[in-house]
Amino acid sequence: MLIVMKFGGTSVGSAERISQAAQLAVDTAAKGHQVVVVTSAMSKVTDTLIGAARLASTGTWDPKVRQELFDRHKAVADAIIGTDTTRHAAVLDAITTRLDRFEKLCFGLSMVHELTPRLLDAISGMGEMLAAPLLSAAIAARGTASEAVDATDVIVTTDLFGGAEPLMDKTRTKAGERLKPMIARGVIPVVTGFIAATQDGVMTTLGRGGSDYSASIIGAALDASEVWIWTDVDGVMTANPSEVPEARTLAEISYSEASELAYYGAKVLHYKTILPAFRQRIPVRILNSFNPSHPGTRVTVEGDPSASGVKAVTSIRGVILVAINGTGMQGIPGIVAKTFDAVAAQQANVLMISQASSENNICFVLSAAEAPRVVSELKAVLEVELMRGHIEEITAEQQVAIVAAIGDRMRGTPGIAANVFGALGKAGINVIAISQGSSERNISLVVTEQDAAEAVRAIHRAFRLDQHARPH
Ligand code: ADP
Ligand code: ASP
Ligand code: MG
Repeated sequence: MLIVMKFGGTSVGSAERISQAAQLAVDTAAKGHQVVVVTSAMSKVTDTLIGAARLASTGTWDPKVRQELFDRHKAVADAIIGTDTTRHAAVLDAITTRLDRFEKLCFGLSMVHELTPRLLDAISGMGEMLAAPLLSAAIAARGTASEAVDATDVIVTTDLFGGAEPLMDKTRTKAGERLKPMIARGVIPVVTGFIAATQDGVMTTLGRGGSDYSASIIGAALDASEVWIWTDVDGVMTANPSEVPEARTLAEISYSEASELAYYGAKVLHYKTILPAFRQRIPVRILNSFNPSHPGTRVTVEGDPSASGVKAVTSIRGVILVAINGTGMQGIPGIVAKTFDAVAAQQANVLMISQASSENNICFVLSAAEAPRVVSELKAVLEVELMRGHIEEITAEQQVAIVAAIGDRMRGTPGIAANVFGALGKAGINVIAISQGSSERNISLVVTEQDAAEAVRAIHRAFRLDQHARPH
């Protein structure tokens, strides 16, 4: 079997964690599998790089950051490989070259004071380029040949910096050329997650948390047998375990449940991860590198056919509810079309839509980053309707959250909505807007950000999700 395994930031967050990740890759290869590793940056490194770039663009470059990054990565190199070996020298050389580039870019930024998305990608993606040589060296130190590979040589994307999309045919060719000969020689490639390059070789990133997506893109490009996402929890759970302590691991979920969960805030998977794997029906597993004997979650076509109703509850914070209100909207055609044309023109992503049947109100939810430009665009395109009074106001309500109850087999199970709203009513939580997709796989509601955690817990309790998920 060809297995693509991805290690997240905490799974490569220290010398000890990198050693454990290397051991997991080596053990899998020892079982006769071909292994391709995808690595995130060490925990917090991406935040540090972005913070330094933003500060530099205001005119302040703090060289301490470079030193701290060097010290942290060097300490790992010292711990995992003997300090007087050629391998140690090669790793330090790779780290130094990358940090030199980081320093030059930040220094340049502090002069020009302009941080473009393209430059931000060149800087923020450097964490993965620092981590890959370390993980690769840790694998090699265990006697299995390994090479660090920059994903700029593997994944070809559009030039939408900060959230680039793979060009799959080109990626298939590049990944084949770069990785297949290595795999055939028994070498474990350690590929940088998160980053890629345009056709012209300009570095891009796939968006925050995008290393999961890298793994499924590479899995699809290589026709892998499975994609394993190693993280810091026992798989995909019935809710975020840091919000709901009694959350349980789901042994099996479907591709659609996984993608719905990720889309509605379950950070354990980047929301685009599932699609490339789904297209080729490549099974995905989510596993805990801190507890590798736990079977984790399997993502399959069927999911768990015996499970019914709600399987998990998620939330997205920091989103904005945009509402268009006006009694004069009734019967005026085209307002909805104009509204969503405006949203599309801004390339914004609508997380949820709800329209009251009285047609007096349309509301939808956007990310906080996208909302301001959409609202100004809306005010411009609906100027006439506003002037004539057909629309009274366009509002953007901050500090709301979406809470979503998710499960493929909610469909056709009566009483689910009643149970959701009953639970929220009992908890005294006010629901601002509601939406149920016609697929009936998801009921989403908008509540205030302060109410979000309690809303998640109330729904989790109401469906007894702490008990429903079957023990392994
Ligand atoms: P990694 O660095 O491995 O990519 P992330 O921090 O991106 O890890 O994602 C794992 C985290 O996702 C968990 O530690 C947990 O706090 C959070 N999480 C949110 N929702 C869920 C969920 N439904 N199941 C599991 N983890 C979740
Ligand atoms: N290092 C990147 C981030 O922090 C990508 C990832 O970890 O998935 O967003
Ligand atoms: Mg992640």
